[in-house]
Amino acid sequence: MTKKIISIVSPCYKETLNIIPLLEALDRCLVDETSYEFEYILVNDGSPDQTWETICDAKKRNPRVVGVDLSKNFGKEIALSAGVSIAKGDAVICIDSDLQHPPKEIPRLLREWEKGFEVVGTIREDIVKPKLIRRLGSKLFYWLMESVSTTTVPARSTDFRLIDRKVANEFLKMTERARIYRGMIDWLGFKKTWITFVPDSRHEGEATYTTKKLLILMIDSFLSHSVAPLMAISWVGFFISIVSSLLLFFQLVTFVFGNPFAFRAISMVIVFNTLLFGIVLIAIGAVALYVSRIYTEVIGRPLFVIRERC
Ligand code: UDP
Ligand code: MG
Repeated sequence: MTKKIISIVSPCYKETLNIIPLLEALDRCLVDETSYEFEYILVNDGSPDQTWETICDAKKRNPRVVGVDLSKNFGKEIALSAGVSIAKGDAVICIDSDLQHPPKEIPRLLREWEKGFEVVGTIREDIVKPKLIRRLGSKLFYWLMESVSTTTVPARSTDFRLIDRKVANEFLKMTERARIYRGMIDWLGFKKTWITFVPDSRHEGEATYTTKKLLILMIDSFLSHSVAPLMAISWVGFFISIVSSLLLFFQLVTFVFGNPFAFRAISMVIVFNTLLFGIVLIAIGAVALYVSRIYTEVIGRPLFVIRERC
């Protein structure tokens, strides 16, 4: 009987010092999983350092390694998609290459998959609390997502998850450029279960996901899962039109019957005008966000470009 293949996909950006420890950890943790064949797909996301050379070197010693070199830095989300697109496995597991997603949890993912779950996600249990600003940011984000979008994204869920071949095939049909891997997998549905894990600290180097990058990611994921901002703008516009009509009416009344407080009414109108102006600008900005996304989707460039494989 041919063994089932499990593809482990790991995006790598500036991870020269982490590649070998990752591969060793994977080999070590999967040594008892003799009923499967494994491939380790390492996607070099245009790292400026020696990451690609290290991957090719490792390939010579470890036949499980499949190296993919993207032509430039496309970002983690796209690197993940590139990895999933070449994975041959009956199940695909995505894992960070900095060892923050502990490979020792992979057997647990496999056990859940064997029970028949098609998506096995992981929830982070933070021992060391992240910075206050990040905590608040993520609280706000998940609250917004829960309240406006049709997709539920569980708080602290990560990209470290197993997906069945069926799910991977459906995932590959999704062509949008602004993509959040876990959001898309959550959107797909399928039979799902969660396990919790305690993340390790980064093995070497520094996280390249800055707060700014995370913020962009949050806006991206919010916009791609919801048109609520567009709706909200219409409601605000509606509300403001009513209030300004009332105001206008009172102004007319004071004009006809005279009012000692006329000056206050005028200043109020001026303030109101600037307020309206601000709101119109916000509205245009929000619409522009969606339009710009339509634009990038419509150009239809390939999601990623592979420079080389090893
Ligand atoms: N990564 C990537 N492309 C990027 C940035 C990061 O492929 O442009 C990879 C990185 O090598 C790591 C994972 O994405 O395997 C998570 O990145 P990082 O540790 O910097 O972020 P964290 O999520 O831990 O804050
Ligand atoms: Mg990390």
